[in-house]
Amino acid sequence: MLQERMDWPGGAKIALSVVVNVEEGSEMTVARGDRGMEPVDELGVFVKAPIRNYGNESNYLYGIKAGAPRVVELLERFQIMASWTVAAMSLENHPAIAEAIRALGHEPVSHGWRWIHQFKFDEAGERDFIARASDSIEKTTGTRPAGWLSRYLHTPQTRRLLIEAGYRYHMDDYSGDVPFWDRETVAGRPIVIMPYSLDTNDMKMWTDPAYTPRAWLDYAITTFDQLYREGEAGAPKMMSLGLHLRIIGRPGRIWALEEFLRHVRSREGIWVASRGEIAAHFAGARPA
Ligand SMILES: [Zn+2]
Repeated sequence: MLQERMDWPGGAKIALSVVVNVEEGSEMTVARGDRGMEPVDELGVFVKAPIRNYGNESNYLYGIKAGAPRVVELLERFQIMASWTVAAMSLENHPAIAEAIRALGHEPVSHGWRWIHQFKFDEAGERDFIARASDSIEKTTGTRPAGWLSRYLHTPQTRRLLIEAGYRYHMDDYSGDVPFWDRETVAGRPIVIMPYSLDTNDMKMWTDPAYTPRAWLDYAITTFDQLYREGEAGAPKMMSLGLHLRIIGRPGRIWALEEFLRHVRSREGIWVASRGEIAAHFAGARPA
């Protein structure tokens, strides 16, 4: 069989997973002991000198101060259960976001102890990075994360270390639209792979300023409709929608998220769920 059939709860045609990234307040800066500034800058200003980029730091802070209230308002209004991929330090520095996640009853997912590349760690260092992230997020949100998303690059050890640390799913995969089991196990315990997607991610509007919110919305709706039709035809899928407070939270972009959620709520048979819920459902229906 070319593809595995998913059976979502209640016979839903599609599972929608909204992922809200929180990286603000843990990005690179010499103020946190880094060698230089954060290279991901909306203006594209990056110099190698060990100086602070105050402009970029405040542009990140926009996500916390101005973006988060807009995103939270929409998630509440449309009753969207989300997974918050949080860099632990971001919540330590901005506890109001941790409180919002707790109040919404949403799921925190670990996006690392800080928003830095973990591929530079040796095994002991990466193990420590994972442990610090888990402990910190449990402290700030009240929930120990079950899922992990790296800052894009991870190591050959990451998955094994996540299983050792008690993680139940891993998001660093882009190979499909449904969950699956990884072959690697630790003491007989496997981990669910919950594929993420970059094509529907609002990050595209940062990396390509010519990519308009209208184009993003059109792409997101087209993706949703295609997966929905595949679900109607008997092959239900999961859609991932990745968001960032500092990106979608801008007044010129937030309307596109509102329109997308309105579109979703105009359809029947949609399972809006956290990635933890989807991973648990998959694991229960298909033991490894
Ligand atoms: Zn991220």
